[in-house]
Amino acid sequence: MKAKNLSERDKKHLWHPLTQHKLHSSMLAITKAKEALLYDEDGKEYIDGIASWYTCMYGHCNDYIIEKAYKQMQTLDQVVFSGFTHEPAVLLSEALIKILPENQEKLFLSDNGSTSTEIGIKMALQYHFNQGNKRPVMLAFEDGFHGDTFGSMSVSSLSVYNGPFEDFFIEVERIPVPTKQNIDVLISDLQTRLKKSDIAGFIYEPLVQGAAAMKMHDADGLNKILTVLKQHNVITIADEVMTGFGKTGKNFASDYLSVKPDVICMSKALTAGLVPMAITSCTQKVYDAFYSDDIAKGLFHGHTYTANPIACTAAIAGIELLQTDVMQKNIKRIIASHQKFNAEIKDHSKVASTRQCGIIFALDLAIKMERYGNLRDKLFKHFMDNGVFLRPLGNTIYILAPYVISEAQLQKIYSTIKSALEIV
Ligand SMILES: *Cc1c(COP(=O)(O)O)cnc(C)c1O
Repeated sequence: MKAKNLSERDKKHLWHPLTQHKLHSSMLAITKAKEALLYDEDGKEYIDGIASWYTCMYGHCNDYIIEKAYKQMQTLDQVVFSGFTHEPAVLLSEALIKILPENQEKLFLSDNGSTSTEIGIKMALQYHFNQGNKRPVMLAFEDGFHGDTFGSMSVSSLSVYNGPFEDFFIEVERIPVPTKQNIDVLISDLQTRLKKSDIAGFIYEPLVQGAAAMKMHDADGLNKILTVLKQHNVITIADEVMTGFGKTGKNFASDYLSVKPDVICMSKALTAGLVPMAITSCTQKVYDAFYSDDIAKGLFHGHTYTANPIACTAAIAGIELLQTDVMQKNIKRIIASHQKFNAEIKDHSKVASTRQCGIIFALDLAIKMERYGNLRDKLFKHFMDNGVFLRPLGNTIYILAPYVISEAQLQKIYSTIKSALEIV
């Protein structure tokens, strides 16, 4: 199949995500991927600098994961998870609970990041409902992103083009992310607000807000917010869909916090990019609010492919890989390389600021830029022409590469960013 061929044929029937097709008509056809590389139909290779949206952290088409998934496919492909269970789900639960913050006890499985947060929101709302308390309001950070289904879209403030749906959103109030400057006022405002007991839950991306262009905040302020919310029995929901599985340098961003969440949402790197899956974990306290002789107090939510055995198997293999010495060394190596690059670049006249959390590195250009504007397109083209897949967000360039990226590939990303600074 010729490459141009695929891009052309794509136009006939396919409708792409986050795309205005009249403005962006042509899609690049990718024919294969291995480790940190993507190959297009002309055979040109690109370093996957964002791990295909933070999924393939152990490398594309990872042999270990493929082998495990292939064996599982020959044994049990799919079975209903309501009324049934299977070994991959049980093994996954045991493996994941071991690496989650220790207050997490129960796992609810679904399909994608949006469903994982949707379920987290439902857990918070129904937790109070089941106890006869009326708490219809959700609390979220400004500039948060939690997905594109109705509940998750409601709590996101970054879904940019939400106009047609806003009238149907659930009730949400927002607070700014904590800074050293605002934290005292933020806490006292929160204490005043919490005198009215109508807030069910608080959903937040811990430490790094991905879609907000890798905006970062420190653990101290977040700990203070979580402490106050817990005193008022607000269910705290850490959306670790992006931050989970090693990206911050620890297994979960919540590992940096002394106050652990009631609920954690995971997806993206969970199955190492092989197939879609998500998990919403929670504490015994949350689970117990649904445990009852009354059938209606159960969580009546389910997806057809919940706990698909192949997805569970990929997730187990991913967790195993994450814990290997090789992968942990890779993570440390990338962190150190980013720090060196940061020292080199931070005072550049076109760089306004830089930030890093684990293997996530971001720099803001000292240039005004629209989220989907011309300059963004020019930058994107520069990267792709040079064989580097990076996806600038507004005036932010960020790197979130697979852990298996080689040092030479990392250096190529850095040098391409440096040359990009010369053309903006
Ligand atoms: C990507 C993302 C989501 C949504 O996940 P999907 O699988 O795209 O639905 C939710 N929360 C965060 C923090 C994300 O990065």
